[in-house]
Amino acid sequence: MLSKTIQDALNEQIKNEMFSSYLYLSMSAYCAESSLPGFASWMRVQSGEEQTHAMKFFSYILERNSHVELQALVKPQSKFKSPMELFKHVLDHEKKVTGMINALYELAVKEKDYPTQIMLEWFITEQLEEEKTAGEIIQLLTMVGENGPALLMLDRQLAARAAK
Ligand code: MG
Repeated sequence: MLSKTIQDALNEQIKNEMFSSYLYLSMSAYCAESSLPGFASWMRVQSGEEQTHAMKFFSYILERNSHVELQALVKPQSKFKSPMELFKHVLDHEKKVTGMINALYELAVKEKDYPTQIMLEWFITEQLEEEKTAGEIIQLLTMVGENGPALLMLDRQLAARAAK
């Protein structure tokens, strides 16, 4: 069984991952409404991946014969100014999530919970990737600037992202 402290922290992280999923779904709607179907599709895939992250925590808690208690989600932001603002928000959000994962790891070390440390290693690697990807898209958007045709090309490129 998990300690109460770890159990509570992992339940909290299910909520955080579900909130990420919800936020990216909201961003997907914004992109679709802004006539950027490729961006919308990318965000929808991203939203689905966040749900799988939540499910990893969900399954892990049960695997440790402990109690899953789902938390309430808050309303995600629904209005954005531009694709650039959107991806800056993504990067900021992922940095926050990295901080949460690191804090969970520290807690698992403090509690001497070795299996939880091992489980969290996957997330530490995943967060590196999430921040790298968001940073790369911001770079591309910086190059695109106010160039409409270049934005459409980037939209096509993002449409190619398939669900893992
Ligand atoms: Mg995640």
